[in-house]
Order: sequence, then structure tokens, then C-alpha cells
Amino acid sequence: MRGSWKSRALIQRWKRLVDDELGLAGASTDRTRLADWLHHSRELVAFCGDDLRFTLLGGGFREAFPQAAESGSALFDILPKFAEPAVRDALLELREAGMAVDIDAPHPVTGVQMTAHVFRTAAGLGVIVQPTAKQPGRSHDREADTLLHWATHDSLTGLQNRRVFSDRLADILAGLGRSKMGVALLQIDLDDFKAVNDTLGHGAGDALLQLVARRITEALDENAVGFRYAGDEFTVIQTAVGQPQAAERLAETIISALRAPFEIRGIPVFIGASVGIAFGNEHGSSTEQLMKAADIALYAAKSEGRGRARVFNNAMLLFLESRESLRRDLREALHRGELFVEYQPLVRLPVSVVGFEALLRWRHPEAGVIAPGTFISIAEADGLMDEIGQWVLEQACTDAMEWPSTVNIAVNLSPAQFRSGMLTDNVAKILDRVGIYPERLEFEITETVLLEQTMDNLDTLHTLGLLGVRVLLDDFGTSYSSLGYLKDFSFSGLKVDKYFIRDLEVNPKSQTIVRSILGLAHGLGMTVTAEGVETDAQAKWLARESCDRLQGFLISPPVSKREAAEFIQRARQGTAA
Ligand code: C2E
Ligand code: CA
Ligand code: CA
Repeated sequence: MRGSWKSRALIQRWKRLVDDELGLAGASTDRTRLADWLHHSRELVAFCGDDLRFTLLGGGFREAFPQAAESGSALFDILPKFAEPAVRDALLELREAGMAVDIDAPHPVTGVQMTAHVFRTAAGLGVIVQPTAKQPGRSHDREADTLLHWATHDSLTGLQNRRVFSDRLADILAGLGRSKMGVALLQIDLDDFKAVNDTLGHGAGDALLQLVARRITEALDENAVGFRYAGDEFTVIQTAVGQPQAAERLAETIISALRAPFEIRGIPVFIGASVGIAFGNEHGSSTEQLMKAADIALYAAKSEGRGRARVFNNAMLLFLESRESLRRDLREALHRGELFVEYQPLVRLPVSVVGFEALLRWRHPEAGVIAPGTFISIAEADGLMDEIGQWVLEQACTDAMEWPSTVNIAVNLSPAQFRSGMLTDNVAKILDRVGIYPERLEFEITETVLLEQTMDNLDTLHTLGLLGVRVLLDDFGTSYSSLGYLKDFSFSGLKVDKYFIRDLEVNPKSQTIVRSILGLAHGLGMTVTAEGVETDAQAKWLARESCDRLQGFLISPPVSKREAAEFIQRARQGTAA
């Protein structure tokens, strides 16, 4: 078969690109562009030297012929036809004369008949493989479709894949011109996918992704098409008049479709999704720009509380830039001595100081004091939290040495510290160095810590127990309350989240929940600390229900080390709060 105009045009495009890249055609040397195009190309394109060994592989080619990626592998390894003398002769001729040749050969695994278009480049040969065009008397259409399907679809969800997405978006943006149609890019990210994967297993995670893909597809009309972009990220391209409303409506439909529970192995699973929206050409005229804008909008949707959609705007960019600069500054903060610790009293009623919780702050040279909620997530993402956490621990223990030995010190542990595998060693070292009694030290961990790597975490907890320190569950009741842990490990107490304390006086549901937590904890020999106690009425209610400890602005906000010592003094004289 001879090449169609389409394959000739393809050859022309790739030939020009690779010749440019090698600099021999005298044009620009734009390596990144070629690499990027190749990587995202769903066409089955590859380049090789005159010895037929591959030098560059396109994404689609790699997917259809995985063994081509092995080092030293050659065209004849994947298409044995190329080792035949007749084909070798044809290739020799090609090298001499430069005319492209088409070689028909079956796919080595599927047997689907393929045509390899081979053409000369500045540094060897290029090859584009396509399913052989339909010919009278042959009927391998479906097989050819199957092969193409592989290269273009995600095997788990059946949605088209990221490569097709990039090509499609690039095509649409290129053709946009003066059209009145608005192109919207919707980037969809599941809010709680990781938790499902971690608690119910990867099988359940996969099943969930399939159901999600189906709901997204059902939400689309003929103007929109969905793709699986990566992991739990999906994208939708929508072309419609009447933007931005059309895209916002679509995003709402998708969000509410994903908010409804999924049933996985008989268990109802709730996830929810956030959506970032960007419009071409308004927010970007290339795939990369538009993706970036949608990404930023998605980030904004997530930080505004998830389960919502946001359209990109420039203010988001400013916010992100300030976050970026925080990220840069944070790397130096510890060494520049900008981090410090405040202490918030934990009291037993009426007024005896049980201890203090160490709370980290950052005194930024320009921005002032920054709360941990703003920078701890950055520190975790950048791998800084392990080091920072160790510093907090040492600082807090050192400060506590100046207090009476009956006063405990509570320190928060970040998931990153659990993940490092060095936590127990580090704790032992610090206890040793500072010389504090381990009985005075309490660690507060959240349930999210426990969601990851179950077994290792239990080991870590037990080792901490052996060191003589206590461990409390923080923010109890706000995320997956994995009551199973209460059986596997003896936590010394639970801290009831502010969320349940806030409306304690007026909300009977909060009262019932706090009462049951108290019953559960006391039944298991654990203490209960109520966080965020701000009013007298809350404190009275909690005292009546025999809550063990209180913490909150009513008693004292977090204070400096010096003020903490004064607080202890006042409490001893019976004059605090
Ligand atoms: P958390 O462990 O739940 O800490 C309690 C938070 O509630 C503190 O906020 C505290 O200032 C605040 N709070 C105390 N009393 C009241 C009250 O009566 N009303 C209200 N509305 N809030 C009150 P902060 O200091 O901003 O800390 C936020 C979170 O940052 C902490 O939540 C903890 O998860 C994390 N964190 C703080 N320091 C560290 C640390 O050294 N390491 C780690 N890994 N996390 C830390
Ligand atoms: Ca805490
Ligand atoms: Ca807490």
C-alpha cells in the first residue's frame, strides 16, 4: 500500500520537526518542543539510526510496542519483517534516494496488519506506524480499532487518555480563531480518593475510579468530552456558546453527581470533587498555559473548602505567587531562627495546670507572625516537616524543663515524621539529650496519620509507648474515626475537636456526640480533652459531664514561654482565669 495524503502530511511534519531539532536543516534547535510533542503524541512515531536502533520514541509508539523502550532495541526486534533481505534492500535505497517507503507488517502481539512509513531524517530514519488502511477483501478493521484504542484510551476507565487530551486541546485551540464558541477546560480532582484507596485497598480504589468515570460521562452532553488525566484527575473539554455559564453549569452537574455516595462492595463511599475551570484563549492560548490556569483554579477551589468549582482569575495567581515565596522563605526559616513555639495551657477543673500544648509559629521578616495552618502543609509537601518537627520537640522539652515536673508538655506530630521511619530513634535521642522524664511528654496525632501504612504505624506507636511517652488522638471525630485503632493501641486520651465544642450550648447533637465520646473514652480508660473552650457555659457543661481537661481561649490563648511560667505561678496561687 502507498501512503495516503494523510500519512504523507504526517511524515512531513515529523521530518521537519526532527530535522529542525538536529539543527541540520538550519532551523531553530528546539529540543524541548520536539521531546514534548513526541511524548504527548498519540501517533505511533519513532526515530532510529541507520542501524535501525531506536534513538527517540513517541508516547503512542512506546505504548503499542513496550519492548521498544528497552535499551539497544531495534526496529526489527519489534517488527521482524524489517530483518528480511527485501526490506533491508528497500531501506538501503531509501538511504540513497530519500524517498519514503511503506512496509506492511503484522503487529507482533495482536497480529493486526500495520503499515510502517519509513522516511529519511537528518540523522537516520523516522518511522510512523499505522493500522493498514482499509482495503477491499480485508476485514481487520475491528482489530485495527482495538490497537488504536490501546494507544488512545485509559484501560481502567475506558475514557480517552492524557495524550489524546493534549492533542485534542491543542487542535481545538489552534482552530479557535474568530469562532464564537468558547472552549472551557475543566480540571476535576476527587477530594477524598486517597483515603478510600488507603482504607479499602487499591481494588476498591480502581472500582471507584470506574464509577466516577461513568458519572462524569453521564453528566456530559454532545458539546463536551471527558478524559482521564492521571490518577484521580479527570479533565473535560467543553465547547459551547454562552460561556462562562455553560462551563459553570457543567461543573456543578459533575460535582453534584460525584457528591452522591458510591457503593463499593456493598459499602457506601463518599468522595466529592473540586473543579478548576479555564477558558481558551482568555486564560491561555496553548495547552500548557490553559492547563496551568485550570490547575490554579482547582487549587483555589480546594483551598476554599473543596466540593466546589472555581473559574481562573488573576487574583489566584497572586495568591499562588505569595505561597511560592512563602515556600522559598520557609526553607531558610528554621536556620534563621524565625520559628518559635507558644504554649497553651491544658487544665483540669477547677484550675490545675496539667500541662501545655506546644504550638509552632513562624515570625516572617515581612509578613509578620504566620499561623501553622498556613505553612505546615507547605513544609510537609516540601519534605521539611520532619526536621521542623524534631526542632519543635527539642525546643518544647527544653522549655518544659524550667516548669515544675508535674507539668506535662504536649507536642503535635506530623504524618511526615511518622513516614520518615526515624521517629522513635529521634524521640529517644532528644529525651536523652534534654533529660526530661518521658512521662511528661505527650504526643498528639491525628487520625490521618493512622490512615497511612497501617502496620508500620502501629509498630511506631508501640515503640513510643515503650519509651514511656503517651500518645493522644487529636481532632477526634473530624475525619475517618477509625475506632479499630482504639483496640489495637492504648491511647492515653482523646482530644475532642473544637467543631463539637463550638455550639455545645445550643446544639443537642453536639452534646450527644461529646457525651458518647466521653463514654467511649472513659470506658477504655482514656482521658478526654475538650479543645476550643471559649465560654463559661461550655466549660460548665463539660465539667458537669466529667470531661477531664479543658483547653481554649476561655482559659488562655497560646502564650510565650515566660507567660506560661507566670500562668503556672498564678494557678498555684489559685488566681488564674
Ligand atoms: P491543633 O492541634 O488542633 O491545635 C489547636 C489549635 O486551636 C491551635 O491553633 C490553637 O491556637 C487553637 N485554639 C486554641 N484554643 C482555641 C479556642 O478557644 N478557640 C479557637 N477558635 N481556637 C483555639 P494553631 O496554633 O493555629 O494550630 C493549628 C494547628 O496546627 C494545630 O491544631 C496543629 O494541628 C498544627 N500544629 C501546630 N503546631 C504544630 C507542630 O509543632 N507540629 C505539627 N505537626 N503540627 C502543629
Ligand atoms: Ca494538637
Ligand atoms: Ca486539635
